[in-house]
Amino acid sequence: MTKYIFVTGGVTSSLGKGIIAASLAKLLQARGYKTTIQKFDPYINVDPGTLNPYEHGECYVTEDGAETDLDLGHYERFLNTYTSQANNVTTGRIYQHVINREREGAYLGKTVQVIPHITDEIKRRMQLLGEKNVFDVVITELGGTVGDIESLPYIEAVRQLKWELGTGNCLVIHLTLIPYLKAAKELKTKPTQHSVKLMSENGLTPDILVCRTEEPLYKDLKRKIALFCNVTVDAVIEALDADTIYGVPLEMMREKLDVISLQKLNMPLGTEPELGKWKEFLNKLRYPKSKVTIGLIGKYVELQDAYKSILEALIHAGAMNECKVEVRNIHSEYLTRENVMEKLQNLDAVIVAPGFGSRGIEGKIDAIRYVRESKIPFLGICLGMQMACVEFARNVLGHSKAHSTEMDPDTNQGVICMMEEQKSITQKGGTMRLGSYECQLQEDSLSYRIYGSTRIEERHRHRYEFNSRYADAFREGGMVPVGHNPKTNLVEIVEYKDHPFFIGVQFHPEYKSTVENPHPLFTAFIRAAKDTHENRNGILIRSFENVAEPK
Ligand code: GLN
Repeated sequence: MTKYIFVTGGVTSSLGKGIIAASLAKLLQARGYKTTIQKFDPYINVDPGTLNPYEHGECYVTEDGAETDLDLGHYERFLNTYTSQANNVTTGRIYQHVINREREGAYLGKTVQVIPHITDEIKRRMQLLGEKNVFDVVITELGGTVGDIESLPYIEAVRQLKWELGTGNCLVIHLTLIPYLKAAKELKTKPTQHSVKLMSENGLTPDILVCRTEEPLYKDLKRKIALFCNVTVDAVIEALDADTIYGVPLEMMREKLDVISLQKLNMPLGTEPELGKWKEFLNKLRYPKSKVTIGLIGKYVELQDAYKSILEALIHAGAMNECKVEVRNIHSEYLTRENVMEKLQNLDAVIVAPGFGSRGIEGKIDAIRYVRESKIPFLGICLGMQMACVEFARNVLGHSKAHSTEMDPDTNQGVICMMEEQKSITQKGGTMRLGSYECQLQEDSLSYRIYGSTRIEERHRHRYEFNSRYADAFREGGMVPVGHNPKTNLVEIVEYKDHPFFIGVQFHPEYKSTVENPHPLFTAFIRAAKDTHENRNGILIRSFENVAEPK
């Protein structure tokens, strides 16, 4: 029988529920248990696909094309397994389902209410992944903070489920904050006491408390927390601020979060977690031998969460190369033809980020021209690839009006244009080209040497595509379409030949980079950045030819 663990949050948001959930999942997985994580978000959007990154950070895309919360990215990066549409549910989706059923007459004239109809639907969805008989443990992270009005139906659903499934089959972990008051030199437990009290007013008591803290929790304090919050002392887990999120699984192992969870679920402990590869990664991450500086050009750069998966993929690739990756955020809105050299010349490589709409677009194009001409390694992701095509069409092929029809719907030089099947779509959510698609690579390409295979699969999230009318001119001019969708022949990758590393990808490689499987494109990109760095400092030890070797 599948066991269920729920992770709730107290006191404040941003305590890192996703990381704690992913760390526990990692430890259980490393003990041999098949584990998955799902996230329930209490907002009314049906999914985060329509949310501006300023609202909720990056929208993460799964293999099956679900637009999801960025925490699913952490789950995949930690567990090295795929998630799916079923792993992310919002209040909007729950209500949409219940209201649709009401319109179909499914409730036979009953008054449709939060309890039981909404809570029943929440409970049904909480158990969907567990019913597949694939997982030993399903961890559910509840978005929001205990005490929020919108979280109430979820807390109520967990209360009911805990009772229905019975002790030993279901566990509630509450993540809370123990603030340190510098002036008093004291750790304070009161906010946690209040948060647990708030939960118990709603009939739910936590079995384990994970306490975020800047200072170690001494024994007496743990005892005090246990006493006030109705948990055993060994169920008070210290979660000290970590230097990297990837250190948290080992911290949780030291605190025995996995052991106490398994004991409370009446599950055998199994073997000690096998985390050899993970530790190797951490070692490389913590003790780099060199350093590169990467420019990340986008319009949401002031918000770290907006490009979460790209930043994490760079961390994975840096560790692979035993190289510290410093990311310099560059706001595309403030880039101009006049200042682009000053801002980019000292960078070892540049990424132009994905995005929508025309804000900051000319800055991206100016930046791409500069890195193309000055041979700074370049990776253009989705919109970044599209703008690399626009830049090339304008400045090399001489099509001065070239643009994407997203930004200039009237241009007659639309090198990037909307796919036919997209044109009639008016609904916003879930209507882009989404999820995993195959791509066929040309054998004489850098991409082939990087991937070491002619067939790859990558995830997409966009409406516009390269206009194949321009393919021959691009090829002849040196910007070669080297990756195609084998079914539709859509261009998925372009490479500029007269350059050590200039790759534009229509897909999002960042979604598939994990700790145990850093993405080859990012790994090769960092390697090219290292070469640029060494070259600039007169210590180049290898030629760009060796940027990537086939596997
Ligand atoms: N706005 C572009 C499109 O829809 C690119 C999207 C993206 O970068 N994810 O095609």
